[in-house]
Amino acid sequence: MTTLKIAIQKSGRLSEKSLQLLKDCGIKIANSDRKLKTAAANFPVEILFLRDDDIPQYVDQGVADIGILGENEVWEKDKQVKVIKQLGFAQCKLSLAIPKDEQYEGLHYFENKKIATSYPKILQGFFDKKNIAVTVEEIGGSVEIATGIGLADAIFDIVSTGSTLLMNGLKEVEVLFRSEAVLIANSNLESGKQAILEQLLFRMQSVKQAAENKYILLNAPNSAIQQISAVLPGMKSPTVLPLVEEGWSSLHSVIKEDQFWEVIDQIKQLGAQGILVVPIEKMII
Ligand code: ATP
Ligand code: MG
Repeated sequence: MTTLKIAIQKSGRLSEKSLQLLKDCGIKIANSDRKLKTAAANFPVEILFLRDDDIPQYVDQGVADIGILGENEVWEKDKQVKVIKQLGFAQCKLSLAIPKDEQYEGLHYFENKKIATSYPKILQGFFDKKNIAVTVEEIGGSVEIATGIGLADAIFDIVSTGSTLLMNGLKEVEVLFRSEAVLIANSNLESGKQAILEQLLFRMQSVKQAAENKYILLNAPNSAIQQISAVLPGMKSPTVLPLVEEGWSSLHSVIKEDQFWEVIDQIKQLGAQGILVVPIEKMII
């Protein structure tokens, strides 16, 4: 039987969210003690637990069919893999930072400077495009200490809050890229695997849609239903049910999370009362 092999990070910032995403798609991972691989109980997929750095290579070689990892690693490894979907978690910046007392007036600051990073390929590529000569010093981790110990003049690293930089006497001066977790796939998936991937993507989409929308119920006088419906179009159009009280109806619809407060103000003004907003678990349009 055909199975789709999915590589996820064994342990680290992406592991829990990657597993959760698969679980939200209804995939039961029977044995998640993270040996090397485990099969799902109710969907034709197998999970491989790997270091995130290795995922692009495994997917490129077809050892895994798809993988979940930070875009930053995809760029750095530069393998022949397809980015299928942005996943909306593990957002971070890839930034240049310099000692905090240095004056900074633009990218030319870095001319002939030595920059320490775990992302040499991304960094070199960036400065090559700008025609600025720099020396890239590759180190495996703890990049933020490189200037303090005299290894480099500046660093290029992942920044989220900036507190690590501050603790090491550094300041962020340029954000070069923004990254988030993505789904990648081998570029030549056979048709059986492609079909499983499509099923999986369909499920991911319905989970995402559900997270972005809320179910809304409200009461309104019949005279206001038309106008309220125009503000709350929902998936097709709202459901309207009569209340026992003469002249009143209950209206049910779907509302986008990010438009929520704006819409609530509008419908209250139009006469809506007893508004309930509830989460949606899955949503198929
Ligand atoms: P591994 O042992 O698997 O190689 P790692 O130490 O390289 O793990 P993590 O620190 O777990 O990696 O980070 C994994 C990914 O999470 C990064 O490649 C990046 O995409 C994202 N990430 C890293 N740091 C942050 C952060 N501070 N905020 C948000 N996302 C981050
Ligand atoms: Mg890594």
